[in-house]
Amino acid sequence: MRIVVLTGAGISAESGVPTFRDAGGLWEGHRVEDVATPEAFERDPDTVQRFYDQRRHAVARAEPNPAHDALARLERELGDDLLVVTQNIDGLHEQAGSRRVLHMHGELLQALCARCGARSPVMADLLERPPCPTCGERMLRPDVVWFGELPYHLDEIDEALLACDEFAAIGTSGAVYPAAGFVMTAADWGAHTIELNLASSEIAPLFDEVRHGPASIVVPAWVDEVLAARA
Ligand code: NAD
Repeated sequence: MRIVVLTGAGISAESGVPTFRDAGGLWEGHRVEDVATPEAFERDPDTVQRFYDQRRHAVARAEPNPAHDALARLERELGDDLLVVTQNIDGLHEQAGSRRVLHMHGELLQALCARCGARSPVMADLLERPPCPTCGERMLRPDVVWFGELPYHLDEIDEALLACDEFAAIGTSGAVYPAAGFVMTAADWGAHTIELNLASSEIAPLFDEVRHGPASIVVPAWVDEVLAARA
C-alpha cells in the first residue's frame, strides 16, 4: 500500500509553531503580502529577512510532537511506500526522524543565492548579509517559496499522487494551491482520501473521510490503524 501524506502548519501547532490562518489571517502579526511575496522582498528586504530570521530562531527552540513522531514511525515500517509532502518550512519532520520528505515550500534552514542560485545551510542571520559560500555575493534569501512563486518538486509529487492508494492531508487549511488540489488528483486516480484536522478545512467535502482533533492525538491513532491493517 502506497501512502502520500500532505502536512500543513497545523501539524506543528502543538510544537509551539503558530499556524498562519488561525491568527485572523495574519502570520505572526504580519500580512502575508508584507513578508511572503517577492514584491515585499524587493520593497523592504530587511523586514522580510528579519521575519524569517525570527521564524528560524523560534523553530530552533521547537521539538517535534507525537504527530511528527507517528509519521516517522510509519516511514520506518513502510519505507519507500510512504512519502511525506510538507508545506511547512520548519524542519520538524526531519527532527522526528522522517527522511522521505519533500519540502514543496522550501526550508527555513536553507538559503538560496539570488545571484548564482546555489543553496546552502543558513549559518548566520540573513539580515546580516552573510556571503554565499559558492559565489561570495551577499545576496542570500531564505530558501522558501513565496506566494506567487512556483512550489518545488511538483512533478515528483504528481507522480506519487497518481501511484498512491491512500492520501492523507494533515493540519492544512486547503486554501493554498496547488497543495489544495492534491486530494482531487489522488482521488481521480483511485486513492482513498482522508483529512485529519482540528476542524473541517475549506475542502473537507472532497475527502472520503474526515477526522477532527488535535494532530498529536488523531495522527498517531491513524498510523496505528494503517499498521494494524497491514499486519
Ligand atoms: P494554515 O495556517 O493556513 O492552516 C492551518 C490548519 O491547521 C487549519 O486548517 C487548522 O484548523 C489546522 N490546525 C490548527 N491546529 C491544529 C492542530 N493542533 N492539529 C491539527 N490541525 C490543526 O496552514 P497551511 O494550510 O499549511 O498554509 C499556510 C502556509 O504558510 C504554508 O504554505 C506554509 O508554508 C506557511 N507556514 C508554515 C509554518 C510552519 O512551517 N510550521 C507555519 C505557518 C505558516
